[in-house]
Amino acid sequence: MFTAFLIKYAEIGIKGKNRYLFEDALIAQIKHALKKCEGAFAIRKTMGRIFVEAQGDFDYDETVEHLKRVFGIWGICPVIYVEDEGWEKLCEKVIAYLGEMYPDRSRTFKVNARRSRKNYPKDSMEINRDMGEAILNAYPQMHVDVHHPDILLNIEVREKIYVYSETIPGPGGMPVGTGGKALLLLSGGIDSPVAGYMIAKRGVKIDAVYFHAPPYTSDRARQKVVDLARLVSRYTGPIYLHVINFTDLQMYIYENAPHEELTIIMRRYMMRIAEAIAKQTQCLGLITGESIGQVASQTMSSLIATNEVCELPVYRPLIGFDKEEIVEVAKKIDTYETSIQPFEDCCTIFVAKHPVTKPNVNIIRKHEKHIADKLDELMRVALETDELVIVSE
Ligand code: ATP
Ligand code: MG
Repeated sequence: MFTAFLIKYAEIGIKGKNRYLFEDALIAQIKHALKKCEGAFAIRKTMGRIFVEAQGDFDYDETVEHLKRVFGIWGICPVIYVEDEGWEKLCEKVIAYLGEMYPDRSRTFKVNARRSRKNYPKDSMEINRDMGEAILNAYPQMHVDVHHPDILLNIEVREKIYVYSETIPGPGGMPVGTGGKALLLLSGGIDSPVAGYMIAKRGVKIDAVYFHAPPYTSDRARQKVVDLARLVSRYTGPIYLHVINFTDLQMYIYENAPHEELTIIMRRYMMRIAEAIAKQTQCLGLITGESIGQVASQTMSSLIATNEVCELPVYRPLIGFDKEEIVEVAKKIDTYETSIQPFEDCCTIFVAKHPVTKPNVNIIRKHEKHIADKLDELMRVALETDELVIVSE
């Protein structure tokens, strides 16, 4: 029945002069999202609105599913276009539309007309009144409620007449690309894909880095990270995933650092490498899936130790989330099932039995200093192993 979707956007409507940039970014993201959908679509921007118009046959459910992943969209309204063939014909079409959309007639409604084409014979008030009357005649069980209608029937008179009454919620947020770019430390766990999703939702384009430790971590563990990046890319657009071989560095830390400080020192090197990549690739920040107190390396004291090695801001959108809250988002964005596949992303031999929970950053620095020359060299070598995988749905 529908031929188009009216795209409603909230926040981006208020950006003053920048509004065009935001709208164009939104259109680019919509185009990307619909590339994989059956059918062809034209995207039109008119008078502060964006319309996605199907050119011929298309799969309604699939199209809506894809639009629901475009950040910046507040609501998706399926629209029917009616040719202007006179008032009687319009009433017939609208009545048929309501009949099909709302088989249960015991509903209240309100007509909300907007006459964008000023030569139309009725003004908005007249359309509201006369269409209301026609609907009541056709469906006597229905009632008008101008304050809290069950159905808000929108009729917009343009060259054609647009009729819509449903708003499917979009994901909200800002169009990806309007907020710069950041580098996500992506592991195979539950948290980091969610962290990437949340920052991308604010309009930030995402690149990613994964630290791989073959042969201690398997190819399947690496594939799982690529799969997760692909799932996140359904929201963010293509992701440039840097795969770094971390084995030598990790082994060296394992053999030369105090056992209980392994994880902290290892994480400090992950952050250093990530920052080096971020700076080379114009990323304006790092993103991790850390949350206070979740594990020993995520206490506030530990976060001081991992944070101090970076100059760039480190965004930790999950910092105040409980695990259950993170899982809820992971399920919503469909990364959960992949995240819980049992491939270790960090071999258990590299994990200390009794990691420090309150590391003293001065002591960590001191211990690191003894081995820093070798570690810096290994870090340079690790950066040379950077293998770029471009991941896109
Ligand atoms: P996740 O569920 O995201 O794996 P986690 O609870 O297992 O997180 P940690 O292993 O302490 O926590 O890692 C904290 C953060 O560090 C992760 O959220 C991720 O951003 C980053 N990280 C950890 N391991 C890796 C890795 N192998 N490659 C890239 N980033 C990593
Ligand atoms: Mg992890």
